[in-house]
Amino acid sequence: MTATTIAFIGLGNMGAPMAGNLVRTGHAVVGFDLAPAAQEAARAAGATVAASAEEAVSQAEVVVTMLPAGRHVKAVWEAILPACAKGALLVDCSTIDVDSARAAHALAQAQGCLSLDAPVSGGVGGASAGTLTFMAGGSDEAFARAKPVLDAMGKKVVHCGGPGAGQAAKICNNMILGISMIGVAEAFALGEKLGLSHQALFDVASTSSGQCWSLTTYCPVPGPVPTSPANKGYAPGFAADLMLKDLRLAQAAANAAGAATPLGAEAAQLYALFAGQGNGGRDFSAIIEWLRGMDDRG
Ligand code: NAD
Repeated sequence: MTATTIAFIGLGNMGAPMAGNLVRTGHAVVGFDLAPAAQEAARAAGATVAASAEEAVSQAEVVVTMLPAGRHVKAVWEAILPACAKGALLVDCSTIDVDSARAAHALAQAQGCLSLDAPVSGGVGGASAGTLTFMAGGSDEAFARAKPVLDAMGKKVVHCGGPGAGQAAKICNNMILGISMIGVAEAFALGEKLGLSHQALFDVASTSSGQCWSLTTYCPVPGPVPTSPANKGYAPGFAADLMLKDLRLAQAAANAAGAATPLGAEAAQLYALFAGQGNGGRDFSAIIEWLRGMDDRG
């Protein structure tokens, strides 16, 4: 592997451990974040911290951003692009709306830089372990240059297509996840009313046509899958607020593209109600507790 000079902007829950894996695999990492605690986490992970985003990117061959939302990505890319070397590669790993991702690609192209949208699946655990899945959108040239850098932070990297295709894959996948979790939770809640044990339903559905990740890896009741958040009081894991964010991105994309996604819309609404009642920081599988309570609400 060739050591690359990498700027990493956005060193939060995901960014700091991802930057740490780049350091561990021999890359020189200069980071920047507005939050002092995030700067500290990146220093602890072995990165150098610059005084500004512009300073961080000035020597970089590759720039990675890991920021909250589309508006942050566009603002940061607008600010840093004039300070980037010509031919630098910018990779955004945040989960953002497809339109903002495409706008960011256009900004990079106008400055003679390569760009890739490469959102991730795998959460904070995957970021720390270096086992993330990356879904990438951009040119073949940008993908080929980014691949070794993404390999240092993940276990699977998929080139999904042109600009925005990574974000499109991410929101489609997470829409399946949100819908399937509600489906599995409803089935367990119904099974309880019918006197069915959790284990019996799991043993049947996990080897039958109801089989899915929400059931077999992330089972929303304690017991059948000992590693699922249900066994730890629904500590995240993947917080309901983040699931709601992704479901809303999927709805915005569906509306813009004219795609019919009635179950995606319903899932977004249910997660909005669930998160709005103080559950946003809990794991998204805790929606089963809220669904059980719906029989009392009528
Ligand atoms: P986070 O809030 O912990 O980190 C975001 C960081 O960006 C913060 O430290 C913040 O200070 C920094 N930031 C904001 N504006 C900035 C700016 N202008 N310049 C420099 N730094 C700035 O969020 P996170 O959990 O690390 O998530 C980051 C992205 O990854 C989000 O888009 C999220 O949807 C996505 N994601 C998160 C998870 C997860 O489990 N946490 C999983 C998959 C994808």
